[in-house]
Amino acid sequence: MFIGAHVSTAGGLDKGVIRGKKIGADCIQIFVSSPRMWNVPTLSEEKIELYNIEMDKSELGPTLVHGKYLIALGSPDATLRGKSSVALHKEFTIANQIGALGLVFHPASHRGQGFESIRDQFSNIVKEILEDVDGDSLLLLETSAGSGDHIGSNFEEIANLLNDINNPRVGVCMDTQHVWAAGYDISSPRGLDSTFNTFNKTIGLNLLKAVHLNDSKKEINSRVDRHENIGDGFIGSNGLGNFLNRKEINGIPMYLEVPGIEGNGPDKENIKRVRKILE
Ligand SMILES: [Zn+2]
Ligand SMILES: [Zn+2]
Repeated sequence: MFIGAHVSTAGGLDKGVIRGKKIGADCIQIFVSSPRMWNVPTLSEEKIELYNIEMDKSELGPTLVHGKYLIALGSPDATLRGKSSVALHKEFTIANQIGALGLVFHPASHRGQGFESIRDQFSNIVKEILEDVDGDSLLLLETSAGSGDHIGSNFEEIANLLNDINNPRVGVCMDTQHVWAAGYDISSPRGLDSTFNTFNKTIGLNLLKAVHLNDSKKEINSRVDRHENIGDGFIGSNGLGNFLNRKEINGIPMYLEVPGIEGNGPDKENIKRVRKILE
């Protein structure tokens, strides 16, 4: 089982690997460009080499790239869709260059257009990118908490998008805080039975490729995206323990995206808490 974490890559991707090792992570999730700015700098051969050297030394598991928060394939604004498509294309290219497991991105909002009306524009952009970018990395849709008009807070919407895209290089990243906020009970054995049943019937468990492992600052069905440190939130240690012991997630890499005890993001303590739960 890979218990990983989102880490900063300030100073270079290789520094992200070192930071991951330092907090005891088994794998890392990174941004390959600033998540709140459109620019995606190209990665030089030298920088990729430095990352590869550090990765080889580290024995870390699969790296996941997190796409920009700005990406909005469901937007009615053509300019914004265009920028999103370019950014996603560039970031996915980098994910493939560094041999990442995949690039995970938020389906984002349909801005009141309704889910059905954005299906084509969404899947067409993803199809074009997959056709254009070579490599083994996957494009993963992240489950959303479901605030406002956000797409992907129910498994049916994700399943529909993946069906439309119809490509073996796509999959899903399940965020425990988001599915909880969207109303899926992942804390009790019965709730987990029902959640994974629904997931399997709609999306298919074979398409679950990564997990964002987070506790929640808010109650179930809050529709609010607020991560909490492991054990300190409404899902809690027992709930996360029930989740972590499911056979459905066995072998699927997990990445912590918690605020951190000191407020600096995933840390040693949060990873320790997960390992304790697993004992
Ligand atoms: Zn995310
Ligand atoms: Zn979140």
